[in-house]
Amino acid sequence: MSEYMVLDSIPFRLNAAELAKRVYLAEEDGELRRSWESLVERVNAIGRPRAVYRDCTVDAVTADTVTVAGVTLKSRVLAAQLGGRRRLFACCATCGRETAELEESPDPLEQFWLEELRMELLHHASAALRREIMSRFGIPRLAGMAPGSGDAGVWPLQEQTKLFDGIFGGRIPELIGVELTDSLLMVPCKSTSGVLFAAEHDFATCRLCRRENCPGRRAPFDPEQWNRSGLE
Ligand code: SF4
Repeated sequence: MSEYMVLDSIPFRLNAAELAKRVYLAEEDGELRRSWESLVERVNAIGRPRAVYRDCTVDAVTADTVTVAGVTLKSRVLAAQLGGRRRLFACCATCGRETAELEESPDPLEQFWLEELRMELLHHASAALRREIMSRFGIPRLAGMAPGSGDAGVWPLQEQTKLFDGIFGGRIPELIGVELTDSLLMVPCKSTSGVLFAAEHDFATCRLCRRENCPGRRAPFDPEQWNRSGLE
């Protein structure tokens, strides 16, 4: 069995009526509404969210490093969150590349819609990944971290290459079609990568992020946790 576990048949169905609220489409927007529904159906027909993970034994933990699969990840917060746990799941999830063929529309509104729908595909991929790990390994709660998430010192974005080239041996593009550019952006951009691990309490790096007005914020900034983390 491969050490890289791929989820490439993730079931999903995007609901045009539910998602219309997210793109501010009212019931009475007749023609726009039909265009929206048509786009959602095309995404439903060709979208293929995917994910890959690797079950890793933690070889060593210091105050600010975690070593897995021969790769030393440098993050004081990750080391503290992991505590004494000796298992970690490296992972990557994506909306998939298939919807690129829907980019031909020059209409900026349709492009905005498409990005929202890709985000929804990514949510399905991320949720399927968590469900798979929780059920397969009998883990009741997972916490996660990603390079570049939270303030700069939490887990620097540069560590992304250790996931892609180190833990996954450069195989993510071939396994699920996600590439890492020289500027450390993932393509497709509606992709995430990082680590998941068993946790007693919910944790989100948003608690250690001072960015204001972030639409993706999942938890408020926590100054006490920030001070405990020894971040500067
Ligand atoms: S607040 Fe926003 S930028 Fe900061 S970690 Fe959360 S999602 Fe990321």
